[in-house]
Amino acid sequence: MKITKPSYFDTFSCIASACPDSCCKEWDVQVDEKSAEFYRSLPGSLGDDLRRHLKHEDGETVMTIVDRRCPMWRTDGLCRIQAELGEEALCKTCREFPRLTHDYGDFIERGLELSCPEAARIILSAPTAPAITEEYPGGEAEYDTDAMDVLLRTREKALAILADTSRPVNESLTLALLYGYQAQGELDGDEEQPFDADCALDSVREFVKVPEISELPDFFADLEILTEDWVQRLKNPAPMDWDDRFRNLARYFTERYWLQAVSDYDLYCRVKYMVASCILIRTLGGDLLTTAQTYSKEIENNIANVEAILDGAYSHPAFTDDKLLGLLLQN
Ligand code: SF4
Repeated sequence: MKITKPSYFDTFSCIASACPDSCCKEWDVQVDEKSAEFYRSLPGSLGDDLRRHLKHEDGETVMTIVDRRCPMWRTDGLCRIQAELGEEALCKTCREFPRLTHDYGDFIERGLELSCPEAARIILSAPTAPAITEEYPGGEAEYDTDAMDVLLRTREKALAILADTSRPVNESLTLALLYGYQAQGELDGDEEQPFDADCALDSVREFVKVPEISELPDFFADLEILTEDWVQRLKNPAPMDWDDRFRNLARYFTERYWLQAVSDYDLYCRVKYMVASCILIRTLGGDLLTTAQTYSKEIENNIANVEAILDGAYSHPAFTDDKLLGLLLQN
C-alpha cells in the first residue's frame, strides 16, 4: 500500500478564528454513525443541543445549520464540541476537513480541499515539488489496472505540461485540454503517441473562434447555489489576468480528478471540467484566492453540481471545444 500526498499537505493547520470564511458556514455537516451515537448519549446542555440539531435524513445523520451556521460554532470561531470535549470528539467529517482521501485499494492519494481558505492559500502558493510517498504492507488493487496505468502515465504528462513555465499559463491550459483529448484516445486503446505541443497549438489557432461573451457564468447560475454572493459574482463577471497561480489551480484539479476516470473511462469530460473551472474563475475575477475558494465551496462540495458539469462538458453549448479554446487563447 502506497500513500501519496502533495509536498505541502502536512503544512496545513486550521486558522480557526482568523479564517475569513468557515467550514461551519452554509453546509449541513454529515455526521458518521459512531459520532452521532456518542453525541446523542451526552448529558447536559451540550447533549440536549446536539440531540435537537442532529437529523436523520436519507439514511445519513446530518447536523442541520441554523442562521447559515453550524449550531456548534461559537462566536470566537471555535467549535463547541472541540472546546468542551477535545478534538478527538469531532465527527469524521470535521476531523478530516479539508483533507481529501482517494482510496484505490493498493494506493491512496491524499490532498487538501480548495474550499477551505487556508488550504486554498497553500494550494495556490505552493511551489511545484515532488509528492511525498510512504509505503505500508497490504492493500489490493480495486480498479482496472490497464486503465490506471494509462491514467497515471498521462496525468504525469499533463502535470508536466502545466508546469512548463516557458509558455504563458493560458497556453499551458490550452495544451492540457488538447493533451486530454489525446489521453482519452489512449485510455480507449490507442497506441501511446508523442505530443507535439507547438504543432497542437498551431493547428487550433487556425480554427478557434473567440466567443464574444462566455456562456459559462449562465451555465453555473443554473446549478445549485449556496449563497447570494455567488449569484452576484456570476451576474457581474470582471475578468482578471491569467497569472501563474492558475498553474497551481489546474494542478490541483488534475491531481484531484484525473484518476477518477478509472471509474467510468471518461477522462475528457473531466479535463474539460478542470479547464472550464479555471476559465470561469478567471472570468469572474476579483481576488483569485477568494474566487477559487468560493468556487470550490459552491461547486466541488456538491456532487450534483459536479455531475451536472461533467454532463454539460459534452452536451452544453458553453463547453464546446472551440469556445473553451477561444476563451483560453483570447488576449
Ligand atoms: S475553512 Fe479551513 S481554516 Fe477555516 S475554519 Fe474550516 S478548516 Fe479552519
